[in-house]
Amino acid sequence: MASMIFSDCSSSTTARLLPFDRMRTCVFRYRQSVSLHSCVKNFSLSFGTQRKPLSSTVTVAMATVTHANVIDGKSIAKQIRDEVTIEISRMKDAINVVPGLAVILVGDRKDSATYVRNKKKACEAVGINSYEVHLPEDSTESEVLKSILNFNDDPSVHGILVQLPLPSHMNEENVLNAVSIEKDVDGFHPLNIGRLAMRGREPLFVPCTPKGCIELLHRYGVEIKGKRAVVIGRSNIVGMPAALLLQREDATVSIVHSRTKNPDKITRQADIIISAVGQPNMVRGSWIKPGAVIIDVGINPVEDTKSPRGYRLVGDVCYEEACKIAAAVTPVPGGVGPMTIAMLLSNTLISAKRVHNFK
Ligand code: NAP
Repeated sequence: MASMIFSDCSSSTTARLLPFDRMRTCVFRYRQSVSLHSCVKNFSLSFGTQRKPLSSTVTVAMATVTHANVIDGKSIAKQIRDEVTIEISRMKDAINVVPGLAVILVGDRKDSATYVRNKKKACEAVGINSYEVHLPEDSTESEVLKSILNFNDDPSVHGILVQLPLPSHMNEENVLNAVSIEKDVDGFHPLNIGRLAMRGREPLFVPCTPKGCIELLHRYGVEIKGKRAVVIGRSNIVGMPAALLLQREDATVSIVHSRTKNPDKITRQADIIISAVGQPNMVRGSWIKPGAVIIDVGINPVEDTKSPRGYRLVGDVCYEEACKIAAAVTPVPGGVGPMTIAMLLSNTLISAKRVHNFK
């Protein structure tokens, strides 16, 4: 990825976008956590509570928001990990089954190795058995397929995850298609995506990052039904499934992508924006309708000479500007990021429960 200059809305200086492979371990140290109730003033329209929110109900501001609520993904992810831990222990006590997650890593990308290590640690913390196969960069596709087939046949493995990206000589589609649909905890199998898109069909798994976005909306009591939602980005792993999920929840959904003309006109109509683009600070305050709820999936490393690491992470959304106009917004880091692994653990538990018919 080439380095690029972007305007940094937080400091009015310029920030340089760094390639991901220059990032070492990405430790999220987001500490800001604004009380949910402290910033909400004079709201005239409630986003309601379809499900009982664990944290609080986010209400839509019509005019007088002075500072948005922070949607604290870090603490919601912890709640989910705690819930998963309790369920795993209950299952172990009742039927002596422990969920297992297998990860296949090919090659020596440092970022991929870090993600795999983090997933392994997260599994251990909640009591999921983790299995790993690490193949060299020059492995053949059939070697990767063989590992997948072994895990497909292994009853102690309930979820299989192929760490992407694969080396360029491999066909990603062939590899992902080989994962058994019953163990596709990433939710990337075309059958799972197809079921997600079809009315009256249920996918066995939903991709973790978009599922995490919707979970944040649910747990903050944001009503989705009947709302106008805009998803920015249409990738197979985030934007497209996020749009499908919002539609399944009866939002009226528009998708903005790189060829969309006047994207700000479309986003300004949205009650809910999910942005998954990978462009730092692209969504400015002027793109946001007052009182909207903003879920920022983007993770963009930008040069920061003041940081000991030489970079910091920002989202797709200009956070400071969004805070002045939105009702609620996810920070980066500390928003969607921690939810992705929490959803992976949850999907692995769901898989083990389904196989063993454990309620
Ligand atoms: P991707 O595969 O590169 O897709 C990016 C999408 O954004 C594409 O659909 C592209 O449109 C669209 N896009 C690019 N430039 C645009 C522009 N100027 N205006 C409007 N749309 C534009 O990326 P991804 O894998 O979905 O990831 C997106 C971001 O989310 C990245 O920052 C990534 O690091 C982050 N991410 C975070 C997590 C997490 O756990 N928090 C997980 C996954 C990804 P076209 O389709 O027209 O090319």
